[in-house]
Amino acid sequence: MKKAVFLDRDGNINRDVGYPASFESIHIYPYSFEALNKLNSAGLLAVIITNQSGIGRGLIKEQNLQKIHKQMIQAFSAQNARIDGIYYCPHYTHSLDPKYKKDCSCRKPNPEMALKAAKDLNIDLSGSYMIGDKVDDLLFGLNIGAKPVLVLTGYGKDSLLRLKKGTVRPVYIAKNLLHAVDWILSQENYKDKVRFSRKGRQRQ
Ligand SMILES: [Mg+2]
Ligand SMILES: [Zn+2]
Repeated sequence: MKKAVFLDRDGNINRDVGYPASFESIHIYPYSFEALNKLNSAGLLAVIITNQSGIGRGLIKEQNLQKIHKQMIQAFSAQNARIDGIYYCPHYTHSLDPKYKKDCSCRKPNPEMALKAAKDLNIDLSGSYMIGDKVDDLLFGLNIGAKPVLVLTGYGKDSLLRLKKGTVRPVYIAKNLLHAVDWILSQENYKDKVRFSRKGRQRQ
């Protein structure tokens, strides 16, 4: 089984601009490529988990979202970084389209998207992490038995204020995705492993 770092998309990997209709309006944060590359090198799966009720709300077509995600995967690949999976929830309780009108069990903080990813990619959820900018991302992390990390990009600062009034606690609060990944890798002793494998021969 592999450990994963589940990643919220908007306000974490890219700017939160509501429901972007095309890849051009996504604005990926420049450090996100390095963050994912580091996860890849550490052998941690990078899996995007995103609520996209804009589909159910009729603000973006599902095929457009899939096209955006395809282009995101390509953009990361061009920077030597791999996205291992993208899972999205298209539902909206009050959707006018019966296909998407659903009080579903996949919208974060519900766990279904992670359960599906765990099955598809053979993930050890209890050894995994969730990084996001909203309280629902942290709740999602807790609901799947993973360790939730808050980033202060996107809605992160608002979330921090809300957290102070509530009982939900992230395991770490990071300035942004790259800082969150660096912290996770330090928890996983990844730096030590790299140091050892590089100098291993001389030491022995
Ligand atoms: Mg977000
Ligand atoms: Zn759903």
